[in-house]
Amino acid sequence: MHYAPEQSQTEICPNCASPNFENVDLCRACGAPLTSHAATDPLRSLFAEGFALRQATSNPRKLIVVIGMWLWLGPVIVMLLFAIVGAAVFVVVERPQPSDTFLTNVFGVLLSALFLLLLGTILYKTTKNYLASRKASATCPPAADKRPRPLT
Ligand SMILES: [Zn+2]
Repeated sequence: MHYAPEQSQTEICPNCASPNFENVDLCRACGAPLTSHAATDPLRSLFAEGFALRQATSNPRKLIVVIGMWLWLGPVIVMLLFAIVGAAVFVVVERPQPSDTFLTNVFGVLLSALFLLLLGTILYKTTKNYLASRKASATCPPAADKRPRPLT
């Protein structure tokens, strides 16, 4: 941690190790958010999480990242599925008249479906890229290649 007031290139990028000026938010070499600033600004930390998520999605190196992603997104996906199925059952069984509430529900279902698609894509890409990176590195023992998807 550096608290010197003068501008010096002491902010080392955690992603590419390039030196940056202390008061910059993003690495000028690779665009990664510099964490000491990201931690103080909620918007920046959100962006930092997004960056970490992109990194993890496109290049997951560790199994724990993939497992963490499943543990994090799995319950959300299940909840969204239940919400969508529940709303669909409600529409089929109750046959509500089109009204403001009805339209709000339809909008909510569409939004949930969109969110579900997004999260599903993130999980799918992460898992796929992880398995691909495992196949690429022959040094890793093929222990847990055929993991069952913890989503039923
Ligand atoms: Zn960088």
